[in-house]
Amino acid sequence: MKFAIAGNPNCGKTTLFNALTGASAHVGNWPGVTVDKKEGVYKKGGFRAEIIDLPGIYSLSPYSPEEVIASNYILNENPDLIINIVDATNLERNIYLTTQLLESDCPIVVALNMTDVAHRDGIKIDVRRLEEELGVSVVEICALKKSGIEKLMDTAAKEAKKPRLGKSVLEESEISCCFEKICSFAKDARHAKFRAVKALEGDAKNSGLSQDALLGIEKIKNEISLPSEFDSDFEAAVANWRYSYISKKISPCIKRKSASEALTISDKIDRFLTGKILGLPIFFALMFFVFHLTFSEDLFFLASLGILEEPLMSPGVYLLGLTEIFTEWLTGIVSSGLDVVKAAEWVKGMMCDGLLAGVGAVLSFMPQIMMLFMFLYILEDTGYMARAAFLMDRFLRRFGLSGKAFLPLLMCFGCLVPAIMGSRTLENDKERKLMIMLAPFFSCGAKLPIWSMFAMAIFPSNADIAIFSIYMIGIITAIIAAIILKKTVFKGDASVFIMELPPYHLPLIKNIALNVWEKLKIYIARAATIIAAATVVIWFLSSFSFGFSMVETNSNESILGVLGSFLQPLFIPLGFASGDIGWKAVVAILTGLIAKEMVVSTMGVLYNPNIEGDALEDDAASSALAATIVATFSPAAAVAFMAFNLLSVPCMAAVATANAEFKSAKWTWATIAFWIATAWVVSFVIYQIGSLLGY
Ligand code: GDP
Ligand code: MG
Repeated sequence: MKFAIAGNPNCGKTTLFNALTGASAHVGNWPGVTVDKKEGVYKKGGFRAEIIDLPGIYSLSPYSPEEVIASNYILNENPDLIINIVDATNLERNIYLTTQLLESDCPIVVALNMTDVAHRDGIKIDVRRLEEELGVSVVEICALKKSGIEKLMDTAAKEAKKPRLGKSVLEESEISCCFEKICSFAKDARHAKFRAVKALEGDAKNSGLSQDALLGIEKIKNEISLPSEFDSDFEAAVANWRYSYISKKISPCIKRKSASEALTISDKIDRFLTGKILGLPIFFALMFFVFHLTFSEDLFFLASLGILEEPLMSPGVYLLGLTEIFTEWLTGIVSSGLDVVKAAEWVKGMMCDGLLAGVGAVLSFMPQIMMLFMFLYILEDTGYMARAAFLMDRFLRRFGLSGKAFLPLLMCFGCLVPAIMGSRTLENDKERKLMIMLAPFFSCGAKLPIWSMFAMAIFPSNADIAIFSIYMIGIITAIIAAIILKKTVFKGDASVFIMELPPYHLPLIKNIALNVWEKLKIYIARAATIIAAATVVIWFLSSFSFGFSMVETNSNESILGVLGSFLQPLFIPLGFASGDIGWKAVVAILTGLIAKEMVVSTMGVLYNPNIEGDALEDDAASSALAATIVATFSPAAAVAFMAFNLLSVPCMAAVATANAEFKSAKWTWATIAFWIATAWVVSFVIYQIGSLLGY
């Protein structure tokens, strides 16, 4: 048997899925998009069912890849049953999707989840009455505590054997009689009512009906006179019928405590955290605290405040020290090993100055990156990030911007590629383009090693503040750029931002660990493949001249040296490209186009002061790198360099994704020019002001 779990985001689908499938789960991708596809097997006694976790959706409209995936799955893959999981604390909102699922012919069981929270908040749901209204079984569960799961699966196994015919709220609406006629056009197909509603809503493509049927339906639609406020917008009218069905039939199944008692704990926390006055300051303080925990060399400022003699290092900084020692040790071993086997000088150079210096530099920042991702994940999983988007919306509205784009933009802190794909959830083409153009300004995970490397080298005692500031430079640039673009290229109103604030949850340690582990795997895999390969190429290009003779490592006669020197003049006003070795910074920026970690691995190779085995003694390879950075970059130049890397063209994969979303080479090139120009101007301002102030 094949069961699909469908439900709104954050209603506990994945938790239920994990409880059902245990270790058999397997994560893949839906074809063509980066939406997770989770499959697993539920077994009990002789019973066995394949379980699939559909993406979280609020409706089955065709506006986001998630919605299209879910509705196509239900139409075409014929699951034996749909487990529709709904959040008992938010029933009315969740049933909206249920009314759509019920239109299919699939057997359905409704899993009423979060019953623990509902109980605590004094929400009582009349399950019998709900079953009667919906016409399908409803089982109360608590996915988190795994209660009710067996009853759910027993019911599901029974229901899956009974055929079911779809039902629609339209059958009870004013247009019930026209709807019947529309359905007759689809009556031979499975899921007739589901298809009929899609066609009525104007989503011909996903209805899967023949051209003739669609024409017939169009005729009937022309005869229907909708109430004037809908202005022949059938989609809005259908949504309205669904909501009125919910308020008439479903709302009476819910009993809440009286208004004053009904203020849930979530509401109380929200009054404080999303308050008009304290909301944004709390957000920034919280974000700073996250950076502080990850990067500070004086945790909680205990030493500066005089409470401790010796500063306490954050675990991230502490681990960074350990990974540096490890890389140094490994380089030493490899180098003496190669001496023993009398390897050629270039092999030794490639291994030690190339591969180990480059990949080692990237990997040494892994602990800090993991910590930052862990904290950000916790903020997201507790439900706080959704509030951050809400706060941002309220703030950005003053500038005529909508915070709607802010949610996909938050994803950019992880990786631009899925975030840019997520721009599809924005309905308005202008906002979609604007969002893509602003995406790189939200520092992605791959850029983090750059910030770590510079902050730890140049601002060792204030690394947390330095890195926090880089993120802020990005956000402020994004806001200013958005205001300018809105006034010029993208004129028009900000669209309304509707978003449900999910109730707060305590995150599960297991989920956090899993999530961080997933990120870790990707990071290591990238370092071992693309970064390692590119590093060897960089080493080669920096060790050989155009005539393919080996030159003194990292001299400006090397291939990279010549290329970098050619572009160098463009960057001299930004402060970081002057002098003999200024071309190296230029090359690092260029290689960052392959993948942003390459900026660090390239610098690991190019700024490696070519130490021979004995000189390595007390200077670790990467602290030698830090020393070279301190000697080469003034603080102002370092910040300008970071800002340039932050704001300029992102990695190739992100550009390709943007190009696919723009569907226009003209837009892609214009956007690339916009990124370079913004990066140049902001870096220029930072360097000029910084050096005026004497930094
Ligand atoms: P999804 O987005 O639908 O996949 O939702 P998740 O499974 O990721 O769950 C979202 C959050 O709700 C997580 O923090 C879960 O720990 C929490 N959660 C899930 N089920 C329950 C439940 O029955 N009770 C409570 N209190 N929390 C739950
Ligand atoms: Mg999930």
